[in-house]
Amino acid sequence: MPNYSALLSLFDRYHSFALSTHINPDGDAIGSELALYTFLTEIGKSVKVFNTDAVPKNYKFLPCWEIIEGVKAVDTYRPEVLVVLDASALERIGKTLSKTLLPIHKLVNIDHHATAEAFGDINLIMPSASSTSEIVYKLIKHYQGAIGKACALCLYTGLMFDTGCFRYSNTTAETHRIAAELIEVGEFAPDEVYQNVYEQLPVAKLRLLSEVLGTLQVTHDRKIASVYATQEMFRKIGTKADAVEGIVNQIQSIAGVEVAICVSEMTDRSTKVSLRSRGHVDVSKLAAEFKGGGHARAAGCRIVAPYLTALTTLVQTAQRYMDQSSSEYTD
Ligand code: 5GP
Ligand code: MN
Repeated sequence: MPNYSALLSLFDRYHSFALSTHINPDGDAIGSELALYTFLTEIGKSVKVFNTDAVPKNYKFLPCWEIIEGVKAVDTYRPEVLVVLDASALERIGKTLSKTLLPIHKLVNIDHHATAEAFGDINLIMPSASSTSEIVYKLIKHYQGAIGKACALCLYTGLMFDTGCFRYSNTTAETHRIAAELIEVGEFAPDEVYQNVYEQLPVAKLRLLSEVLGTLQVTHDRKIASVYATQEMFRKIGTKADAVEGIVNQIQSIAGVEVAICVSEMTDRSTKVSLRSRGHVDVSKLAAEFKGGGHARAAGCRIVAPYLTALTTLVQTAQRYMDQSSSEYTD
């Protein structure tokens, strides 16, 4: 069993806490952060939350989202304890934040990424957990055995998001048991949570989806599918690069496809990469070859190269992984 006690003792010993999570925060990042915020506040702690990127619109239904502050708000503030959630590496909270938001006493790292670095004084890394929200759930249960109402909604949102609405391979009977408890305690309607997170899309996002799907390519063996998004598309449609999020999941649904790749052209001449796997390829290892990371079935990285060059390299690398994994599989 993971060692919760070292972290729980910090809750008793210290008073001021700061929380942060990764850039371009998703449902698990914001959910786990706000869950820990509501819990720590309820037990009387002084808590601040600082993120590099703003809360995406579709998470503004979550309790307390307005308390999340930006990089500049840190100024000279120093918490006794800094808890970094779902980040996989400290720099992923953002270059500036990782240098300015410094704890006086302890740095805590709570994460479930397969590639998570143990950068904290205390590291609660559980790659088998469906989400960072699930780890926060377990932590709170160990502390006091009960989850607060607001906290339950935040945790459920994180759990729902990182399991792809309870579809991905990280979904277990335990995930469902936790989700059931959170629905009871939180007294929210799961369909409303779904609608808030996934059905608040601007029209532009669908137009971008249509453009990006138009670039679909599938390898001869039909095992690798890829798409790309360009600055030209973003300009034409009036969106930003973050509107690409989620598109990679669509192409993963093609019959027979084992690895799905989506690359986006960024303004700094680098290429943002999203990888998904359904088969035996561990895409966190593939991403790590390009200094990225993530999970076995969902990972990403940045490549300093034009997007088409990056895409060609990625397809070749994915092919190599596929060949390796199929030979391991048949052995
Ligand atoms: P997505 O494709 O949804 O952006 O990311 C999928 C997973 O890969 C997430 O768990 C995310 O944390 C991880 N990931 C995405 N991009 C990067 C990156 O540049 N570096 C690292 N270390 N992980 C990444
Ligand atoms: Mn996560």
